[in-house]
Formats: sequence, structure tokens, C-alpha cells
Amino acid sequence: MSDTRKYYKGSTDGKAPFHGDPLEGIEAAYDVVVVGSGLAGLTGAVILARAGRKVLLLEQHYNLGGLATWFKRRGGHIFDVSLHGFPAGMKKTCRKYWTKDIADSIARLDGIRFDNPQFRFDTEFTREDFVHKLQTVFGLSQTAIEGFFAELAQMDFYSNSGETVGELFERHFPGRNDVHRLLLEPISYANGSHLSDPAIAYGIVFGNFMASGVYTFSGGTDRLVKAMKAELERLGVEIRNRVQVDRILVEQGRVRAVVAHGRTIACRAVLSNANLRATVERLVGQEHFTPEYAASVSQVRLNNSSCQVYMGLKEGESIPFITDLLFTSSAARFDSMELCDLHTQSRTFSFYYPKTRPGLERYTIVASTNAHWSDWNKLTPEQYEAEKAALIQRTLTSVEQYVPGVRTKIEHVEAATPRTFEFYVQSPEGTSFGTKFEGLKPSMTMHEQVRGLFHAGSVGIIMSGWLGAANYGVIAANKVDAWLHSLVEVNA
Ligand SMILES: Cc1cc2nc3c(=O)[nH]c(=O)nc-3n(C[C@H](O)[C@H](O)[C@H](O)COP(=O)(O)OP(=O)(O)OC[C@H]3O[C@@H](n4cnc5c(N)ncnc54)[C@H](O)[C@@H]3O)c2cc1C
Repeated sequence: MSDTRKYYKGSTDGKAPFHGDPLEGIEAAYDVVVVGSGLAGLTGAVILARAGRKVLLLEQHYNLGGLATWFKRRGGHIFDVSLHGFPAGMKKTCRKYWTKDIADSIARLDGIRFDNPQFRFDTEFTREDFVHKLQTVFGLSQTAIEGFFAELAQMDFYSNSGETVGELFERHFPGRNDVHRLLLEPISYANGSHLSDPAIAYGIVFGNFMASGVYTFSGGTDRLVKAMKAELERLGVEIRNRVQVDRILVEQGRVRAVVAHGRTIACRAVLSNANLRATVERLVGQEHFTPEYAASVSQVRLNNSSCQVYMGLKEGESIPFITDLLFTSSAARFDSMELCDLHTQSRTFSFYYPKTRPGLERYTIVASTNAHWSDWNKLTPEQYEAEKAALIQRTLTSVEQYVPGVRTKIEHVEAATPRTFEFYVQSPEGTSFGTKFEGLKPSMTMHEQVRGLFHAGSVGIIMSGWLGAANYGVIAANKVDAWLHSLVEVNA
């Protein structure tokens, strides 16, 4: 996933650039146009198609999946971008809303390891194992631990006390930075949670993970997205990629059409999977919303972005099983800002063994760090290349601690930065996890501003990550369906 623009729109993977009309053969009008094919957009589309709606799904990129994506490089390398780990709930979501085959391919990770100056161990990443570690490694009392988990179990979306994650941790485990690290660091990589974010958002997501560990999709992201595409096509969804939606047309407070590729496509509803702020400010236009709503959206903070280093081993080379997911840091203490620093000492390694893509005897390693757009965006081209090269070198040095000599086995290495993510999915500031908590309300109430306009995509921390985005697609699609239903009743 290089951000070198020559790879963009149809020239990656050795594919010829696309010269045809990506909208050829579409109809003049649809019940719903879904803008964007991230996990929220795809899942929204499948629900609407099952409800019998005529759906057009438009995606600007040549792949579907949004950040749930992959890319190939010469030498037979396939890299997954965000397939690191999600909660067990994804299995239920996929069984209920996608297919049994997709759900059955969701498998639990075999190994998760922490390694930092404060602690080092393997974990099953379940409540039982965390309780055990908190007692035996961190020396906490059963009462303190149970008190924390009991409070998490009671958290729900409607009981936001305004407390931050940091305050929640301090109340239960005062002064225990090591415990705070255990509880938050992995979630920060999955959805960008910080110590300053609302405890409620953290609690819900952490609780999901604690249910029964961390899961992945066997076969890789390419297989998942291919299966989702096949299901959408079976249900009659018209899917077009390489189609940039330029505008969502609103007349008299109601969605009428989308403008894409020079064409106006009529529709009764739009489900936008583009970023919340991009939807309001770029696609619709602030003038179509009340000043209060438009102002609230412009004040929504974006979540952080990411950097990644992709390492592909030469064909025939292998590494022993170390773990699947490694949270590693040489920072003495945990700190949300350190995690995003340009020169952070904290990263995760996802090790992809042949079991990831059964039948392909290949090994890849992907290192991920959280990152700030502002750190990377301000760099000159020379500084940018130098920082990327330095990031790669730091990462190779780090991985060699766990896999001695792996450098000589690595045939392909490249880095992605916030600029890469911004470029590929058009999320403002390359945000990997959408918006902070305050984005939830405007996202969920968008249809109250413009009739027929709905949003589904990473917002509010709760609705981000693979599971959050997919589930949000379901919630939003049900609202779209109800809206379409109400139109029929009015017209009857
Ligand atoms: C490096 C990294 C690691 C991650 N790790 C994990 C993890 O371990 N576990 C986890 O659960 N989650 C992880 N995530 C987060 C997860 O991938 C995302 O939260 C989720 O995939 C977002 O889905 P989404 O539906 O919100 O939208 P996105 O994936 O952002 O998709 C939006 C889509 O809309 C398209 N689009 C935007 N504007 C337009 C337009 N105008 N016209 C047409 N198309 C448009 C974009 O091209 C894109 O395809 C990670 C993310 C990153 C970047």
C-alpha cells in the first residue's frame, strides 16, 4: 500500500489502467445509493438488498472493502491492511447478515503476546485470562478486578457519565500505569481509543473483546471481500467501483440523487459510508443542514491515523510460529500520545503464516503504529521519504528481536503513512478509526436534517473497527428501509 500515486486507480498489481465507463449499464434510478464500500457500506447494502430494495453501491477505489483491504506485490506477496484482530461478535454479525460460509471462516487467533518494559506474557485475551494475569502478574486483589469488570458489564450506550478512560482506570487501579497499558494499548490499535476518550466507548469495545478472545478471517481479506461481493451480486446489488461520488443532491430538504462520473443518478435514499465530515461538508454541503448541526459536525474531532510496514518473505522462506499478534513497546511507561508519536517506540506485529491463506505457503509480517496526520503531512517530499525509510529501519530492527535473521529472508518491504490512508479511502487526515465520540450523534441523526440521507461508517469509537463498522451498517440500513417504507405508505 504505497502512496506513490502511480499505483492509484487501476495500475497496481500489474493491472492495466481502466479506461471504460464504470457506470455503463446502470439504471436511471435506485431506491438507495450506498456511497463507499467499507464494511459499514457493504453490510448496509446487503441488509437493504435482502429487504428487497434496489441498491447501487458506488466505490471510488478499484477494490471494495475500504480499510478492510489487501494489496499484492511482485513476488507473490499479499498484504492485509487491517486484518489484525476483531471480537468474536463478528462471527455472529456475519452469520446473521452475511453468509454461513463467511461466518465459518472466522477463526480465533492462536497467540497474542505483550512485550514491554512493564510486562511480558502470552494471553488468550479473555476475561478469565486477564483476571488471572491481573492477580498473578500485577498482584491485584480479586475485589479490585471484579469491581472493574462488573462496572464494564453494566456500561451501555445510554449511561454515559462523562468519565474518561484515564479516570475510570485511576478509580479502579490508581497509579498502576502497567495495568492501564494492559487494558488500553490493544484497544488503541483496534479503534484509536485514548486515555482522554469517554470510558463508555472504551468499555463497550473492550467488553466485546473480553467475551472470547481475538478473531481473524481465515483466507485473508481478499477472500472475505470476494465472498461479500458474491453475496451482494446474488441479491441483485449493482456494484460499481472506480466511481467517485462528487455530490449528493438535496432538494427541499430531501435527497434526490447522487452525481458521479458526470452522471446524475436518482435515488430515494443515500447511505453514505464516506467519513462523517466529508459527507456533510464535501458531498452534501453545509447549507443543507441547520447551522447548529453543521457547526457540531465541523467541531467533531477526527480519530488518529496509522503507519504500517509491510514485510514479505521470499518464496520458500519460513519463520517459526512466534505468536499471531504481538504488542511490543520499548517505552518505559504507557501513554496514549507516545503511541501516536512520529518516532513511537510502540507497535504491533501481525504475523501471517500459511494458515492465513491455506494453500499458499507464504509468510508476511505487518507492523502497525498509531500516528498523527499533522506529523506526516507537514513533511517535505525529501523529509517524507527519509521518515518512511527510518520507520522501515526501526521496524526491521524491532522485528529482528523476535525473529533473529529475518531481515535476510524479507524480499519486499514498504511503508504506509497517514498520507497513504487519506489517499486510498479519502478519509480526512487519513483517519483510521473515523471520529471521536462526539461524531456519533450527528451521524445517527443525519436523516433528521436531510430526509433520506443516512450515514454509516466509523464514528464515536464504538462504531469503528471491523465489528463496529459492520454493525453500524446494519443499524443504518434498517433506518433506511424504514424510511423507504414510510414513503410507500405516504404514496398509498
Ligand atoms: C492500519 C489499520 C489497522 C486497523 N486494525 C484494525 C483491527 O485490528 N481491528 C479492527 O477491528 N479494526 C481495525 N482497523 C479499523 C477498521 O479497518 C475500520 O474501522 C473499518 O474497516 C472502517 O470501515 P468503514 O465502513 O467505517 O469505512 P472505510 O473502511 O473507511 O471505507 C469507506 C469507503 O468509502 C469510500 N469512499 C469515500 N468517499 C467516497 C466517495 N466520495 N465516492 C465513492 N467512494 C467513497 C472509500 O474509498 C472507502 O472504500 C484498522 C484500520 C487501519 C487503517
